[in-house]
Amino acid sequence: MQELHEDEFEKTDCLQCANCCKTTGPLFTDKDIDRIAKHFRLKPSQFIDQYLRIDEDNDYVLQSVPCTFLDADNYCAIYDVRPKACREFPHTDRKKFQQIANLTMKNVAICPAAYNIVEEMKKRIKL
Ligand code: SF4
Ligand code: SF4
Repeated sequence: MQELHEDEFEKTDCLQCANCCKTTGPLFTDKDIDRIAKHFRLKPSQFIDQYLRIDEDNDYVLQSVPCTFLDADNYCAIYDVRPKACREFPHTDRKKFQQIANLTMKNVAICPAAYNIVEEMKKRIKL
């Protein structure tokens, strides 16, 4: 999976896509909230009030999508301090990739790179 992930992302230009940022937001951990709030010189509680809500799984998520921090050229305005979930998306280089099969099935619908990686994996398994 590591190799398939690297091969695919060598040819993928996320700036031409940004579908993940446009259609689904990340969840924000407490560490993410502290780091990003600090970046904006806000208190964590102010950052939460302004940008986040709690979802049905009790996680902090964005109040709206596309992500507030995505600009018109598909750049992330908080790239250096972005949430861990954004850094790791689409999670196709996870060591225990098989443990996130359900999540991956959701992500292939959002992410063309994840789709290609999974298709390639299926081809290789058949060999
Ligand atoms: S959906 Fe996938 S290919 Fe598109 S920007 Fe996000 S990670 Fe990159
Ligand atoms: S924080 Fe940045 S990388 Fe994450 S969804 Fe928003 S624009 Fe995309």
